[in-house]
This record gives sequence, structure tokens and C-alpha cells, in this order.
Amino acid sequence: MAQEYDLVILGGGTGGYVAAIRASQLGLKTAIVEKGKLGGTCLHNGCIPSKALLRSAEVFATAKRGEDFGVVTGEVSVNFGKVQERKNKIIDQLHKGVQHLMKQGKIDVYEGLGRILGPSIFSPMPGTISVEMNNGDDNEMLIPKNVIIATGSRPRTLPGLEIDGDYVLSSDEALQLEALPSSIIIVGGGVIGIEWASMLSDFGVEVTVLEYADRIIPTEDKEISKEMQRLMKKKGIKLVTSAKVLPETLVKDNGVAISAEVKGGVKEFKAEKLLVSVGRQANTEGIGLNNTEIQVEKGFIVTNKFFQTKESHIYAIGDVIGGLQLAHVASHEGIVAVEHIAGNDPSPFDYNLVSRCIYSNPEVSSVGITEDHAKEKGHKVKVGKFSFRAIGKALVFGESDGFVKIIADEETNDILGVHMIGPHVTDMITEAGLAMVLDATPWEIAHTIHPHPTLSEAIGEAALAVDGKAIHS
Ligand SMILES: Cc1cc2nc3c(=O)[nH]c(=O)nc-3n(C[C@H](O)[C@H](O)[C@H](O)COP(=O)(O)OP(=O)(O)OC[C@H]3O[C@@H](n4cnc5c(N)ncnc54)[C@H](O)[C@@H]3O)c2cc1C
Repeated sequence: MAQEYDLVILGGGTGGYVAAIRASQLGLKTAIVEKGKLGGTCLHNGCIPSKALLRSAEVFATAKRGEDFGVVTGEVSVNFGKVQERKNKIIDQLHKGVQHLMKQGKIDVYEGLGRILGPSIFSPMPGTISVEMNNGDDNEMLIPKNVIIATGSRPRTLPGLEIDGDYVLSSDEALQLEALPSSIIIVGGGVIGIEWASMLSDFGVEVTVLEYADRIIPTEDKEISKEMQRLMKKKGIKLVTSAKVLPETLVKDNGVAISAEVKGGVKEFKAEKLLVSVGRQANTEGIGLNNTEIQVEKGFIVTNKFFQTKESHIYAIGDVIGGLQLAHVASHEGIVAVEHIAGNDPSPFDYNLVSRCIYSNPEVSSVGITEDHAKEKGHKVKVGKFSFRAIGKALVFGESDGFVKIIADEETNDILGVHMIGPHVTDMITEAGLAMVLDATPWEIAHTIHPHPTLSEAIGEAALAVDGKAIHS
């Protein structure tokens, strides 16, 4: 029998399940259709498992230099089975938490593959959802007033570098490794590639990164890329930039060999495994878009600022619409979409205020625009920079590489961008985000008293440095 809903959400990842909770809070009768597991990529194949592995790698790397802290450890080794077990336990716990939240919100969860149907006996408009149930039961038919498509994304690869799960991996397979390889080539030096490079290197794996652009993490501020490059090299990671990988040269024989066009010619690289991390492609296929007027451009669903597609009662959020493919972006887009469905007149999402983080060791975080971008936009900029080397807490931690950089407009004093590299900066960026939301000036950041000793003092000092007034430099 067909069920009627105010809202049906296709996909129960971070975007979908958060949207469902907000909808339930607003009194909308809501259902989620999920073909895999609630929590989606972020919980099962992304943010959480990768951060759990990064943390184990960090503990190992710290234990190996226990002597620096006066702690005698003896020989330290990795039990990778235990590392994976710990990761899986964290995922299980959080998965149960999301399931509980669905029950608490009285959100119906349909475990199966959802597809949007065209106009039918159930509805004159496209949007009825047919669910092919995972347990083999007859298809369920859901008749919603509104739909949110939150079907997410999957790893992209390059033609010729097909994922085989053995020699050639995407992050999905890498997260399930049963043993660490002795060496790895990572194709792509963006956010995910650099997190893997840092983690595997801290675990003792020999890592080579091949990046097409002329610098790693090319979307970050140039000075951040440069510092990251220095620190990754210091770890022993081999970084090859301006490298055009030639997939047709891939040889799999007791390991992998692949060539790349690099400065000065073509060079061959060899390792036990190869990880492809060249971005993610949206899951737009097989969900019934052909039964609608919904537009797809460059592989992503097109929406307006409230996330409505060409069919105004069908919304789309998260990785499937492209842009910043981040969990906190997906969930906030979901909240805006639901508020709009409920008629609450939400403010459109300002993507310039989204914090972006890289959880490598050292970490990177940023909000707003880079120095180059600010200049391109015609701003006369003033820049304040402060190194963690002069921050007591960083020395106490034994992690004093990196800096905080604040870019402000010379005339208006507006903060245009804040960029950090160093210890725990992913936990520090929200202060900068809040400052930008509140339209604060560097002076206001500096006069927010930063307790001593904390790593956040670097933000206060960088804010003072914008006008040449840093105390400890
Ligand atoms: C290795 C890695 C690390 C990452 N680390 C971070 C990080 O640290 N921080 C961060 O912010 N972001 C991180 N991300 C990105 C983050 O995971 C995504 O931005 C986020 O998961 C997007 O959420 P979403 O809801 O749009 O899609 P997803 O989380 O991909 O969820 C989509 C869901 O839809 C389901 N689905 C698809 N089609 C159908 C269908 N037809 N019927 C029913 N169900 C369907 C899928 O099974 C899936 O569960 C990482 C990604 C990766 C790969």
C-alpha cells in the first residue's frame, strides 16, 4: 500500500539524516530511503573512519618519539588489526546513535534503493518514490509532498586506473585494508590524498604522492601549501608536483609500476599499492532523474539557493550537487532545504563562511578566501602571520611547526580569510568562522582575550600582526 509523507529523503548520509531530523522537529511527516547504511559516506567510508586511522597513526608516531617527552617506551609497533577494530567500533557506536535519532524523531526508514517516478496514478507531478526493498519484499510506494535528493557521491577514478581492490584502491578499499602495505603511490595531492599520505607515512609506509597541479592542496592559500610541502617532505614523503600520470603505463605484477610526465621527462614509480584520490563523482544515475525536468550539469544536480531543482517540490543537497563536498556543508544545506519546505524563509547559505579542514599531521584549516584570491578580487590586503614556534602550548605539545595567517582588507578592516597549519588547528578555525559571521575586525579578534597557554593565542597574535602589533614576534 502506498504511504503518504510531507517529505521523503533519498539517501541517509550526513545531509539526508540531518535534514530528516530537522523536518521531524518542524512537525513534517518524514521518511528516509537508504540503500546502504544510515550515516552514508561520512560515517562509513569517509570522515569518521579516516580520522580514526589518522589518530592511531598519530599515537604511533608520538609513541615512537616518547623519549623526547622523557617517556621510555621500548620498541613500538602497530597492530593494524586492532587499529581497524577500534575504527569499526567507533563507526558502530555512531551508527547506532543515528538509528536511535531516527526512532526518536519518528522518522520512517526504508532500507532499499529509491527511484523517483514520473507522473502516475498516485500523483500528477513527478516525485512518487518507488523503493526496491533490500530484504526482497515487494516494492514500497511512497507519495511525498516534497522530496530531497541526498544520494551523495562515490570515488572518481581515471580511465585506465580502474579500482581492482587489490593493487589499485580508492579510499573505500584503503579504509578496509587488513594489513599496511610497505609502500604506496597516491595519485592526487588534494585533501583526501594528503590525509592518506600523512597517515600512512606516520604508520611507517613509504609514500609517493603524484599531483597534477604545481603544488599539493592547490585550493588552499599558497603559503599553506608551501609549508605543508616542507613538512610532508620532512616526514619522508616523496612529493612530485606537476606530474601527469599516464594510466596506460600501469603494470600490476607483484606490486604496481606507473609512469608520469614530470619536469624533465617521463619517470616510472613503483610501489606495493596505488591509491587513486582524484575527487568524487555524484550519484545521479538510476534514481529516476529521467522521469523529471531536473537538470544535471557537469555531473551534478542543479539547484537554486534554497536547493530546489527545476521541479520546485524536489530539492537536492550535499555531494550530489557538487561545490564544497563536505559533511557539514551537506547537513547545513539539508537544514536550509527543510526550512524552505516548511515555509520558514531561511537565509541562503554563504559558502564563503564554511570552514574547511585537513586532518593530516600537521592539520590545516581555513575559512574565507586566499591571499591571491583576495588580490584578484581587487582588495588591497594586509596580512598578519604568527608562527606556532613562539606559542608556549605548542612547545609543550612538542608540535611547533606551522602558523596562523589572517588576511584583511586594508581599507575596511574586513577579515577576508583565515588560514592555519599546525597542531589542532581544525579545532581552532571556528573562532575565525564566528569572527567572519559577526563581521568582526582583526582588532576585535585580538581583544577577545586568548587564555594562556593555549594554541589559540596564535590567532590573537596573528590578528595583532595584521596591524604590525604582535607581542611575541
Ligand atoms: C575518505 C574521505 C574522508 C572524508 N573526510 C571528511 C571530513 O573529514 N570532513 C568532512 O566534512 N567531509 C569529509 N568527507 C566528505 C563527506 O564524507 C561528504 O561530503 C558527505 O558524506 C556528503 O554527505 P551526503 O549526505 O551528501 O552524501 P553521502 O554521505 O554520500 O550519503 C548518501 C547516501 O545516499 C545513499 N543512496 C545513494 N543512492 C541511493 C538510492 N537510490 N536510494 C537509497 N539510498 C541511496 C547512499 O547509500 C549513502 O548512504 C570525506 C570523504 C571521504 C571519501
